[in-house]
Amino acid sequence: MTSKSAAAAARSTVYGYPRQGQNRELKKAIEGYWKGRVTADALTATAAELRERNWRELADAGIDEVPTGDFSYYDHVLDTTVLVGAIPERHRAAVAADPLDGYFAMARGTQDVAPLEMTKWFDTNYHYLVPELGPDTVFSADPAKQIGELTEALALGHTPRPVLVGPVTYLLLAKPAPGVAADFDPLTLLDRLLPVYASVLADLRAAGAEWVQLDEPALVQDRTPAELNAAARAYRDLGGLTDRPRLLVASYFDQLGEALPVLAKAPVEGLALDFTESAAVNLEKLAAVGGLPGKRLVAGVVNGRNIWVNDLEKSLATLGTLLGLADRVDVASSSSLLHVPLDAALERDVDPQIVRWLAFARQKTAEIATLAKGLARGTDAIAGELAANRAALASRAASPITRDPAVRARTGAITDADARRAQPYGERTVAQRTRLGLPYLPTTTIGSFPQTDELRVARADLRAGRIDTAGYEERIRAEIAEVISFQEKTGIDVLVHGEPERNDMVQYFAEQLTGYLATQHGWVQSYGTRYVRPPVLAGDISRPEPMTVRWTSHAQSLTDKPVKGMLTGPVTMLAWSFVRDDQPLGDTARQVALALRDEVGDLEAAGTAVIQVDEPALRETLPLRTADHAGYLAWATESFRLTTSGVQPGTQIHTHMCYAEFGDIVQAIDDLDADVISLEAARSHMQVARELAAHGYPREAGPGVWDIHSPRVPSAEEAAALLRTGLKAIPAERLWVNPDCGLKTRGWAETRASLENLVAAARTVRGELPAS
Ligand code: GLN
Ligand code: ZN
Repeated sequence: MTSKSAAAAARSTVYGYPRQGQNRELKKAIEGYWKGRVTADALTATAAELRERNWRELADAGIDEVPTGDFSYYDHVLDTTVLVGAIPERHRAAVAADPLDGYFAMARGTQDVAPLEMTKWFDTNYHYLVPELGPDTVFSADPAKQIGELTEALALGHTPRPVLVGPVTYLLLAKPAPGVAADFDPLTLLDRLLPVYASVLADLRAAGAEWVQLDEPALVQDRTPAELNAAARAYRDLGGLTDRPRLLVASYFDQLGEALPVLAKAPVEGLALDFTESAAVNLEKLAAVGGLPGKRLVAGVVNGRNIWVNDLEKSLATLGTLLGLADRVDVASSSSLLHVPLDAALERDVDPQIVRWLAFARQKTAEIATLAKGLARGTDAIAGELAANRAALASRAASPITRDPAVRARTGAITDADARRAQPYGERTVAQRTRLGLPYLPTTTIGSFPQTDELRVARADLRAGRIDTAGYEERIRAEIAEVISFQEKTGIDVLVHGEPERNDMVQYFAEQLTGYLATQHGWVQSYGTRYVRPPVLAGDISRPEPMTVRWTSHAQSLTDKPVKGMLTGPVTMLAWSFVRDDQPLGDTARQVALALRDEVGDLEAAGTAVIQVDEPALRETLPLRTADHAGYLAWATESFRLTTSGVQPGTQIHTHMCYAEFGDIVQAIDDLDADVISLEAARSHMQVARELAAHGYPREAGPGVWDIHSPRVPSAEEAAALLRTGLKAIPAERLWVNPDCGLKTRGWAETRASLENLVAAARTVRGELPAS
């Protein structure tokens, strides 16, 4: 095919669409079903209606091929587990009794049965349910959901393309089932799994699917030769089937690397590649294999994860280059649009000038359709869209919101010394000991105390105008007083104010920083029916006034014990927001870091001797490819140090991390140069303490001794046993006693009992220390 006919054949598509509906109808229906207020029939009817609406919306916007099977009541990896019949033993009875209730039991657990484990979907903030497999796993096809949605879309007159998690990614995302040896490799099940995919493909073809998409995002990560071989075998086998639809193998979130030649050679009819951030590498690899003659190339040129308008001319240029490399080039988003909110036009409170720069799912869909039209019919056919796009991009580039000269002058003047504390840890610790006078094994908490109903009512009252700001702040001050008095009574050494004024640890700061934007309707799925509204780093960041000082000062005024100041670190602020795409992440992090540095300075000036800067997201933002780790960790650790290095040696800097295993980033943790770190460790029996020790970590650390994700109250003996384990790795003068994480999801009763036990454990173990 010539590149001209490849252009004329260009079609538009997406791999998935936001599931919840404009008014979060799906969330409401599912949660209603769980509470027994919505019948199963009503729930399935709502779901079918939402799917119908989504397909119609896509088709009306000019999308030629719509996805099916991307819809989910909870998670598409869990749907795949059902598709291939890999139901864990402990859930089989429930699934047999009622497939829908059994499905939710796998997702959420029941009184008697634990759910599947949940973890992050690659480097997004979406969480999937981890398949549990073992040598005895038997797969069997259950294509009802896929066939049902395909049939619905066909009946509505669409051109559907079923989307499935591919077999290699499914196995690579799995873990050994409980009771199975930890070194069991799920990939050894590939030969057993492929016949199930073959049967599903045959059924989909019989039901009318012309194309089927198999998602293999796991292939954009570093893969061993054995794993690449498995991918080659999988697609040789599936491609070799005679009774099947045409196959599109999709990759996203990064470049395909070594897997690209493998898939290019496979006997499948199409390949989907991400041409956003990793465009250059994918282009180069594609050219190196001589393109995809005879194949369909789906080009993900519209970013499926950010919320910014596309640079249409740049995308057209990329598409133009691709035309010579495949038989047919289609236009798509780089990944499912599941990761972006539905519609920027719903944001009535955002400055209309900024709304022009935003593209949520609806806007992205329009961009994809426009690009396909431009490719097929020439740029004259989209002259109006191109002009509007050029104007939007120009307005963003020239805006004082994205270019604040004061912020730029400040980041430009940063020196190495700004990101380094004046004295090394060894000297600071002496000053801090003298100033704080803490015992060995000092006790503290991670920051938040229970977010009570009264606090939520107070926030709702404020929003509804039933109380004014003064009334609200009065309630917050009363809560702080209670939290302080409880900690004093319990005998905790380093107190916190409890964070009652914070709805969310990122949003609270985003709302107070210039250049950061909150949305009204920008919901994205985090997991199941949990949706979050990440704020948007829209422009240059500055801090008009102190954000936390009055609360910390109020708390400090009530006690003679040290009260910790509490801030969210720059890496976490970026990780849980939508980031800018018009400058390197490190630049944005530096701006946030300087704003936080001012807050640290103000806290210190107000007399705060201990300041904690939380970075729970440090590990989860690690890039998918190992080659990119060093670059990320360099800016991540530098921005943390920029936040914290302006203080006096006697001011103690804490940090906190959780939600991950940290063994592979201990060097980065060390590079933060924080004086004290608290970490999640209770469930792993202080594993992280051993990892820190093995690395020769020289600073103070508090591996958590209370698993706050469970309502269980740890006994004093249990906490003492964990402390003794901790002491084998970390000497007494450097070991802290604290829970795994903040207490905002816990109730007061458990909090009281658990913290009393923690203090008792610390006292017991202190008594066992050799007199020094
Ligand atoms: N300081 C925060 C809190 O205690 C930390 C939360 C977190 O680590 N996710 O709530
Ligand atoms: Zn935490």
